Amino acid sequence: MAKYVMALDAGTTSNRCIIFDQKGNMIAGAQKEFTQFFPHPGWVEHDASEIWQTQLIVAREAMKKAGAEYSDIAAIGITNQRETTILWDRATGQPVSHAIVWQCRRTADFTEELKAKNPGIVEKFRKKTGLVIDPYFSGTKIRWLLDNVPGARERAEKGELCFGTVDSWLIYKLTKGKVHVTDYSNASRTLLFNINTLQWDEELCRILDIPMSLLPEAKPSSCVYGETDPEFFGGPIRIAGACGDQQCALFGQTCFQPGEAKNTYGTGAFLLMNIGEKPILSQNGLVTTIAWGLDHEVVYALEGSVYVAGAAIQWLRDELRVVDSSPDSEYFATRVKDTNGCYVVPAFTGLGAPYWDPYARGVITGLTRGVNKYHIIRATLESLAFQSNDVLQAMERDSGYRLCSLKVDGGACRNDFLMQFQSDISNAPIRRPSCVETTAMGASYLAGLAVGYWDSKEDVIKNWSIDREFTPRMDSEEREKQLRGWRQAVAATRGWAKESGE
Ligand code: ADP
Repeated sequence: MAKYVMALDAGTTSNRCIIFDQKGNMIAGAQKEFTQFFPHPGWVEHDASEIWQTQLIVAREAMKKAGAEYSDIAAIGITNQRETTILWDRATGQPVSHAIVWQCRRTADFTEELKAKNPGIVEKFRKKTGLVIDPYFSGTKIRWLLDNVPGARERAEKGELCFGTVDSWLIYKLTKGKVHVTDYSNASRTLLFNINTLQWDEELCRILDIPMSLLPEAKPSSCVYGETDPEFFGGPIRIAGACGDQQCALFGQTCFQPGEAKNTYGTGAFLLMNIGEKPILSQNGLVTTIAWGLDHEVVYALEGSVYVAGAAIQWLRDELRVVDSSPDSEYFATRVKDTNGCYVVPAFTGLGAPYWDPYARGVITGLTRGVNKYHIIRATLESLAFQSNDVLQAMERDSGYRLCSLKVDGGACRNDFLMQFQSDISNAPIRRPSCVETTAMGASYLAGLAVGYWDSKEDVIKNWSIDREFTPRMDSEEREKQLRGWRQAVAATRGWAKESGE
């Protein structure tokens, strides 16, 4: 039996490869950054050929470090930056232009016009795709490429082009053009995929003027899509898993029961809650997405993001210069017993879920003569937990599930003070795993399950080991008091840029 599974983690700024064994141990890894292009303010592009080359280099490097031959690898699983849009020539495999990255806002005017012209359209897209009409998702990016790359629309209409997100692109390249597929989790981020029927939606494609011949076949996240061309790794390896990065982390964190959720505390924070086998549309500003397709079933998730999480700690470091490094924030925050009544709301770029207020701007409230820098550092750390809690509460309201546990990953989950405060304010246990490479682990599990390297999700659960659990210590009166203060502070941010005209 093959010894390992290999995860290709195609991120936004770098590609990584991690090789795992059956116990979920990391055997070897490699990572390489690639170029970010910013051709206009608010535009972000990648070179898809560079993404492919970089991914191939790190995969070969990791295999070399592990001393692994192609036959040692049971399967490859891919996890990827979501929504990033690539169009390429079906015959030559050449991209028609740079990829448009998920962060790119170039279709903002188009989405505004679309919504203004057809007021009913928002609800139509929401019901079918679980999403809001926003430049973030792939649909309007595909349309932009068809309308702006010379000849693209004609070539697409003749069936000469393929669309794919990064998972789809990498599978196409790894199989030397034999396989054009994507998985349900990635498809569910395009605005073109009906998450109820698991089909590309003709009506939505018509509205966005996208020929359906472009689209990859949508398949479960755990299944054998094809084999790598022998040229790449000395022999064929099965490609058996694909899943968007955030959903993959939910899987890697083994959030298999409805009501289980994960939070990734990175630059921003990404929260996903498993809501079981039926989609639930949010009444509270969250999106509904496909978590994964596995074993003939599809699991759905509610998703909400916080724009500024770890970035607020970078602000303490780089702008206020009150800490030398992000981890130092913990030491300073614990020099005081509370925030002395002050709150920081880091709404630097507006507020995301559940408020959706682009005009909100950051505030520090409750300042009195005794507030010092330690209080402000502490309040900034607490803001990560308060913002995450706002999303978790919206998830509970939408799903009817009481949060049973929150599993955590991302850089800032190393901060014990923050984790304890999250547990206190959300009144839920917080579980931090020993291996926080949950995204890559999720991809390897999805692939390994498809080829029998692991038998069932039970094997995966066995491999998840806890580093530390944080349980609530705050009494309910104190929690309510703090939440009231937070709500008051959030209220002070609302509409700020609109009223001040900035
Ligand atoms: P990303 O993947 O978004 O680049 P990471 O998961 O690498 O983010 O996490 C980096 C972020 O986490 C940074 O914004 C940093 O300020 C924050 N961070 C890292 N360690 C800590 C810590 N110990 N306490 C608080 N914040 C931290």
